[in-house]
Amino acid sequence: MAKTPRRSTTRASKKTKYIFVVGGVMSGVGKGVSSSSVAKLLQARGLTATAIKIDPYVNVDAGTMNPTEHGECFVLKDGLETDQDMGNYERFLNVDLPANNYMTTGSVYQSVIERERNLGYGGKNVQVVPDIPLEAIRRIKKAGELAKADVVLTEVGGTVGEYENILFIEAIRMMKAELPGQVAVVMVSYMPVPGSIGEMKTKPTQHAARTLSASGVFADIIIARAPVAIDKKRKEKIAKFCNVLPENVISAPDVPSIYDIPLMFEREGLSERLCSMLKLPCKKAIDMRSWKRFVSSSRGDSDAVKIAVVGKYFSSGDFVLSDVYISVLEAIKYSAYKLGLTPEITYLSSQSFTDKKKLRELKKYDGILVPGGFGKTGVEGKLNVIEYARKQGVPYFGLCYGMQLAVLEYARNVLKLKNASTEEINPKAKELVIGVMDEQREKIAQADMGGTMRLGQYKAVLMPKTIAREAYKQAEVLERHRHRYEVNNAYVPALEAAGVIFSGTSPKGDLMEIMELSKSEHPFFVGVQFHPELQARPLNPHPLFTAFIKASYENK
Ligand code: GLN
Repeated sequence: MAKTPRRSTTRASKKTKYIFVVGGVMSGVGKGVSSSSVAKLLQARGLTATAIKIDPYVNVDAGTMNPTEHGECFVLKDGLETDQDMGNYERFLNVDLPANNYMTTGSVYQSVIERERNLGYGGKNVQVVPDIPLEAIRRIKKAGELAKADVVLTEVGGTVGEYENILFIEAIRMMKAELPGQVAVVMVSYMPVPGSIGEMKTKPTQHAARTLSASGVFADIIIARAPVAIDKKRKEKIAKFCNVLPENVISAPDVPSIYDIPLMFEREGLSERLCSMLKLPCKKAIDMRSWKRFVSSSRGDSDAVKIAVVGKYFSSGDFVLSDVYISVLEAIKYSAYKLGLTPEITYLSSQSFTDKKKLRELKKYDGILVPGGFGKTGVEGKLNVIEYARKQGVPYFGLCYGMQLAVLEYARNVLKLKNASTEEINPKAKELVIGVMDEQREKIAQADMGGTMRLGQYKAVLMPKTIAREAYKQAEVLERHRHRYEVNNAYVPALEAAGVIFSGTSPKGDLMEIMELSKSEHPFFVGVQFHPELQARPLNPHPLFTAFIKASYENK
């Protein structure tokens, strides 16, 4: 962890402006995407924009949470394990964000307590208010400094009126008071249209605005999330009861794709409203050309490419969760669009493939992807799927666990090491083809599990004349990691002799980063120890995903 600075506040640059996004009424209405879209529009007006996510839970980061609880864990370049909204910001803005830009109640308290232990408060009484909000404010200002930003956008997780995020709402109030004219608040609120009456209701939003005002904060802009567009009459009603100008009520009906949202906000004049409200040095004309080109590439009736994603974190009660692999899904889409294809992505639960008869269902798909994962649930199913992809010549892309299991499958079925396993699920197995990394052994023994995996960006060097090297078109790459286990080097010579090509390794050559099979054996069989999906961007698709999708389409 970075050392906590002694001073609890930093000075805001005079020019930096701060936009806060809070949620009204309920969660899950697209606050993260709304925030990303606002930042995107300001960027497209020529401003330097950066984005922060505040998660109100006590966990210090998102790394220890079950993905079915919290969705995907998005790893930043410098290794912090964060919320998937950080991924949206990076994808929309096409920038890498630093660890400073993600905070939780737990991480803020941790800094304050550490500073107190280091006498950083000079003997004073350290209090929940103001010291907790002040630490949040310090980080918000620091984000502006790090990015030399004209505007810092901060999304406060949860909805107004909850206990959990109240200290962050207080931080907004304090910043508004300290920096008049430099802070704007956007509330993303939900306007239900109950089926029984068929009329859009604004009352829940009025209550949310009132709750927010009870904390001393007024929204400057209200984004009206609803199944349909909000009409003039209701805009006026919200304006009257929630203290905003009617033109500051932004209509945000459901749209086919999240990438339409910035364009929709712009039609409502949102960036212009923010620029004039905060006196931002915006360009007169917005430049969304490349974004529009991307959005139109995602339309059309181009040929389909059918990809099966075989994972384990898909169900929650009776509901299917796609959020858990959101970066993977988006990465597939960007590459498909780039190739002029329509991606059809199906989530399949790995557990069902424990029964080999079920493998027949895979015939429908042009390519198979096994994403990252942990633990033993569904592993035998994944191994069966990988064996099927290898033997049937179906393009296969394995990410992290998906790579480790591809190596394991090869060891079991080609090297005939019938008892081969990964130390993660069977530490007593005789043939530990995948073993725990040396540096991890002690951490596991001490149950020191939070933020201690091999995390963040590391370099890999690529072997010439391989699928990986040809896809990347460069000799070295930087990719983001999140793992405790690795290919056991003791088995590398045998695996290589049997046909596995380790086409990417750490610069010292001691860590296997990419495995593949020769193109003469299989059209596309590639596993990577890292998470390429974390660096795939709409305007910058990931070369390995593109190679995988291309091979899948050619396999049709
Ligand atoms: N469970 C594996 C490990 O810790 C893979 C992790 C992952 O897929 N992110 O090494």
